[in-house]
Amino acid sequence: MIRYHEALATVLSRANSRSLGWEEVALEEAEGRVLYEDCTSPEDSPHWNNSAMDGFAVAAGSVTSASVESPVTLAVLHSVVAGDSGDIDSATASLEHPTAIEIMTGAPLPSGPWDAVVKIEEVEPIRDAQGRVSAIKVKAPSKTGDFVRYQGEDFKTGALLLRRGTLLTADSVLALAALGIAKVRVLKRPRIALLSTGRELVGHTEKTLKPGMIRNSTAPYLRLALKHLGADLVQSCVIPDEVELFKDQVSRLLQDQPDIILTTGAVSMGKFDFVKEALEALGARTHFHKVAIRPGKPLLFSEFENGPIVFGVPGNPISTAVGLRFFVTPYLRALTGLTPESTPQALLVADFKKPDGLRCFFKAKVEVGPFGLTVQALQGQGSALVGPLLEANAWVEFNEEDSVARQGDWVKVHSLFPQEKPWSWKEPENFRLAAGRASSEEKPQEAGRCC
Ligand code: AMP
Ligand code: MG
Repeated sequence: MIRYHEALATVLSRANSRSLGWEEVALEEAEGRVLYEDCTSPEDSPHWNNSAMDGFAVAAGSVTSASVESPVTLAVLHSVVAGDSGDIDSATASLEHPTAIEIMTGAPLPSGPWDAVVKIEEVEPIRDAQGRVSAIKVKAPSKTGDFVRYQGEDFKTGALLLRRGTLLTADSVLALAALGIAKVRVLKRPRIALLSTGRELVGHTEKTLKPGMIRNSTAPYLRLALKHLGADLVQSCVIPDEVELFKDQVSRLLQDQPDIILTTGAVSMGKFDFVKEALEALGARTHFHKVAIRPGKPLLFSEFENGPIVFGVPGNPISTAVGLRFFVTPYLRALTGLTPESTPQALLVADFKKPDGLRCFFKAKVEVGPFGLTVQALQGQGSALVGPLLEANAWVEFNEEDSVARQGDWVKVHSLFPQEKPWSWKEPENFRLAAGRASSEEKPQEAGRCC
């Protein structure tokens, strides 16, 4: 039986052999989409030099001697607020006759000798008969650039903003919108067709169950989860355990040309587990069937030439969830050019029994403490037990070796869904280095070994 890392390598290599097309979407629709091409800044931002504070624009050179004891008095020439063009008549302004401009946050810094902003709190205003500030006393020196936001300080024209393969999030939209990028080229969403098998299945909206029937809970779960993963469920159908009906349905689905067919159930060794043979009869090539994992061992991965790839996940809900998280998700990420997820490690808080020889993906609870992450595998790991998933906030991964995962082991943990902008995992040793506990001679060598 194939081991998980080999199965994953096959899944990824098949994803890398395919490519999705692109489409253009409005920025408002871009969240969760993956950039098809590098995105560069079409202009400078900020567009103009402007003030970071409410205060007074001054020529820094005119207030070098300013102090509380001997303040420098400047005539206030003009006032600019955000939204003003910043064009003022500067003919009268010179270093010999130093002046100030009253300026509000975001207002353009007028061209002229004014190259710094003094905060309003740091001047003493002198008002005329109308109450207008006609002059200020500056009580401290300023440096060129103080409280000035320079043109292009945030983004320069042509600067790389986001690389192709970046997952767009609300915070990317903030930058793109500021730069007037209203549309982006993104990869098309992968199209997935779902085929739930099982003569016992009724819709999840069914109020009462006839004896022997169960609700198809994984279909609505997969619809939402796949949407979250950036894919579209374009078809969802249920087939009783009849091989000919299954084949007919797959043939129909193939005409719609989905990128992926996902089947649930009927991949084990039972009398009605026909999915593998049925797909092969239709011409699909089996890449692997059965992986040394728990739960979800009978997982099937096959492919139609010039057609969709197929994931056949076992019907038990947690096996389906594991199939989705540890096979379909990496496939989708590779297909859309997202980088592989980084997997943090956590300290296992208690011994946990596991089947020797199988890699386990167990429902788990991760906690963040002052010394990092700890994880507890939850009771109730049966693949039909959905309840513990309500308590879980992670999956814990145990390697194949051994029949028990030991308290104090560092083990891999996975968020229930990939993080949008993952925090990368650093070996604990690096934390020690950062805290300065290693001697200075050790540092370069140690850092090299860890990174
Ligand atoms: P199978 O993989 O077809 O042998 O199914 C294994 C177990 O999962 C059986 O108890 C099925 O009733 C159950 N099951 C199959 N499909 C679903 C589904 N869509 N939703 C919930 N349970 C299912
Ligand atoms: Mg079944």
